Amino acid sequence: MSGPLPAFSGDTSFQNNMPDPLLAGKELPSFKFALDKSVGKVMRQSYGKEATVEQLPISKGLAGVSMKIEPGAMRELHWHATAAEWAFVLEGRVRTTVLDPDGNSETNDFDAGDVWYFPRGHPHMLECLGNSPCRFILIFDNGYFSEFGTFSITDWLGHASPALLAKNLGVPESALAGIPKSEAYFSFGEIPPEKAAPVLAQSAAPAPGAKPPPPLTHRFALMSQPPHRVFNGGREWRVDSTNFPISRTMTGLVLELEPGALRELHWHPNADEWTYILDGNVSMTLFGSHGRYRVEQLDTGDVGYIPQGYGHSIENIGTKTARILIGFNAGIYSAIDLSQWIAGNPADVLATNFGKPAELFSRLPKRDVFIAPKEGPKAD
Ligand code: MN
Ligand code: MN
Repeated sequence: MSGPLPAFSGDTSFQNNMPDPLLAGKELPSFKFALDKSVGKVMRQSYGKEATVEQLPISKGLAGVSMKIEPGAMRELHWHATAAEWAFVLEGRVRTTVLDPDGNSETNDFDAGDVWYFPRGHPHMLECLGNSPCRFILIFDNGYFSEFGTFSITDWLGHASPALLAKNLGVPESALAGIPKSEAYFSFGEIPPEKAAPVLAQSAAPAPGAKPPPPLTHRFALMSQPPHRVFNGGREWRVDSTNFPISRTMTGLVLELEPGALRELHWHPNADEWTYILDGNVSMTLFGSHGRYRVEQLDTGDVGYIPQGYGHSIENIGTKTARILIGFNAGIYSAIDLSQWIAGNPADVLATNFGKPAELFSRLPKRDVFIAPKEGPKAD
C-alpha cells in the first residue's frame, strides 16, 4: 500500500528511491561488458578502454577503465570533476603524483597488487616506471564519468590565450610558445628516474597554532597484506576507509575462488558493485525482484555490474582459481549473505516460510559462509 506523495521538503534524498527506468522493465538488462576486448583510445603502445553507461547502461553508479602505459609514457596531469579514482595495479610499476587542496603533494610508486585512491577533483598524473609496460584497472564512483572527458592540463592551457598564461605564470609569452594546443592525454618522454625527483615546492601553507595532522596517504599495498578472510574454497582481500582512511567513497575487494567455489547469494545495502575478472571463468547471477533473474558468464577481462541492493552470486565454473576484482561506491563494506540471513531467523519461521520441517533448517550453516567450496559448506 502506498500513501500520498510527501510534500517537497527540500530534501532531495527521495530521488534515490525513484525507480530507475532501465531497471523497471519486465526483464533485467545485461550486466556484462567485455572490457578488455574493446578497443578504446589507443596511442602508440598505450591505451585506455572504458566501461561507462555508454558501454554498459546498467552501470550508473560506477565506471571503470583498463589502462596500459608503455615505458617512458605518462597519463598527463588531469583531474576528474565528477568522480573519485580508485585503482588496482595488474602488472608493471606506476608512479603517481597527486595534489590536495591544501597544497600537499604526494608522489608514490606502485607495484602489482597495490591500490591508489584520489578524491574527486584532486589533480594527478600517472607514469610508467622502468622498462616494462604497466597495466592497471581504474574504478570511478560515477557511471556517467568518462575518462575521455576529463580535465587535462594541455586541453585547458592550450585554449587559454598566451597573454593570460603569461600573466598567470610570470614568464614572457614567448617562453610558453609551442606547448600543446589540444589535449595530449598520454605524453611520451624519457623513462623516469628510479628515485622520484622532489616536487618544485611543497606549497602547503603552514597552519597557525597546533601542528595539523599529516595528510592521508593515497597508496595502499592491498595484495602485500595477508587475506582479510580465508575460507575452504577461497580467499578475500579487502580495503575500505577503515584500513585506508582516504578512501571515503570506495571499497575494493579481491576474491580468489577455487574451481567450483561459490561467493554465496548476497546483496549490498549501501553500494553498487563493479566487478572485473582478473583471471578465470565465472558465472554471475543477478536477482531483481518480480521474478527477474539473469545469469551471465564472465571471462578474464570482462566487467560485471550489480545495482545497489540487488541479489547476486559469483561461481567459479573454470578449471583454475578465479581471481576477481570488485569495487564499491561506498567507503564502508556492507553485505547481507544468504546463509547469515537464514541463520538469523528462528526455525519455525523458516519452516512456515518454506513449508518444510523445522529440522531441515537446523542442518543449514549457523554462520556467514561467504565463500562455499565446490562441495558446499560443512554443517555446523
Ligand atoms: Mn585520473
Ligand atoms: Mn557482491
